[in-house]
Amino acid sequence: MTSDWNDAATRDLMSVGGRLANLVRGEGSHVWDDEGTRYLDFLGGIAVNCLGHAHPAFVRAVEQQAGVLAHVSNYFATPQQLELAARLKRLAGTGESGRVFLANSGTEANETAIKLARLHAKKTGAGTILCLEGAFHGRSTGALAITPKAAYQDPFAPLMPGVRAIAPTIEALEAAFDAGDIAAMFLEPIQGEAGVVELPEGFVARARALTEHHGSLLIIDEVQTGSGRTGEWFGFQREGITPDAITLAKGVAGGFPVGALITFGEASELFSPGTHNSTFGGNPLASAVANAVLDHIERGDLLANVTRRGAELREGVSALPLVSGTRGAGLLIGIELAHPVAADVAREAMSRGLIINAPTADVIRIAPAYTIGEPEITEFLDLFGQALAAVAENQTVEATA
Ligand SMILES: *Cc1c(COP(=O)(O)O)cnc(C)c1O
Repeated sequence: MTSDWNDAATRDLMSVGGRLANLVRGEGSHVWDDEGTRYLDFLGGIAVNCLGHAHPAFVRAVEQQAGVLAHVSNYFATPQQLELAARLKRLAGTGESGRVFLANSGTEANETAIKLARLHAKKTGAGTILCLEGAFHGRSTGALAITPKAAYQDPFAPLMPGVRAIAPTIEALEAAFDAGDIAAMFLEPIQGEAGVVELPEGFVARARALTEHHGSLLIIDEVQTGSGRTGEWFGFQREGITPDAITLAKGVAGGFPVGALITFGEASELFSPGTHNSTFGGNPLASAVANAVLDHIERGDLLANVTRRGAELREGVSALPLVSGTRGAGLLIGIELAHPVAADVAREAMSRGLIINAPTADVIRIAPAYTIGEPEITEFLDLFGQALAAVAENQTVEATA
């Protein structure tokens, strides 16, 4: 009964957000709630469930590794951890000099990257961390300091000092580097939480050129864009640049909590024994699942499917009512609406058995599994079209009333 679980959630869970349904099971791109209602999941746990739900490769890895060795401390190496580090270096193209730190979330990966920036600042004397308006890097006090959104930051002030936020324009970027003192710059190749917002053409290349010229680190937050989401392994690979570090989480283990910081070149030399660590980070269970998920994506050539299905979805939605455009890449798609009715559309979709999300008033975000095919796309376009039509109709009624 809806009210039972809702009451329990209100009574027992910390009050940090509402719950849309009480989900009990998932399979492929569908989930079921406690009343047996089936939903098409096109949010994918916010760009996490890249193989969908209960994928055999995921299930097998959890079962197999949990029965052998789930956790040891980081006083020890494990074959699973070593395999994951080598795999991530290969996929990111770091070459021999790359290094990997394994954590449990995107926030932790970014905290580690902030510490990397501080270590670099100690060497160079330039102390400021640059971030972009609209960015989302996490909710811990450090990651929050580089997430310049008043509603998120203000209740927790004072935050970590030494941060400057600029508009995501090439002019603001150049002015910031002219002013000097930049230790590191953080950016997302596509700002997911802001509503799948792409950076201006040439921005990332310019950021790379300026950070290199000024001896600053370029740290790319690939928590949402990484692990194949855009059709490339990592978003930076679409820009033809090499960063100093990237951070990962969300899809990297398909729903098992894993985060990572990957460094390139000299940035790999900054941490030294005793300066950082994690109890759970990179444990053999988490690492085995990440290996299985990434291996399955690679062997199944799922990145090609991400690109192809992303294009089909973009084309399909452009014919629907209220849709004024699309943005993003691969299967990270922002659907622009002609009116600020995204929350209404998401609600209508949910009531028809479709899970999507409204990161801003006029954008719907979808981030489905990399495994989707024609049946899922057809079902999505049908349900999403119905939701849009219902909202469009209400609008017409209101306009004529
Ligand atoms: C989700 C997200 C984070 C935070 O990751 P958590 O795993 O929730 O801590 C950081 N950066 C980006 C770009 C994200 O999308």
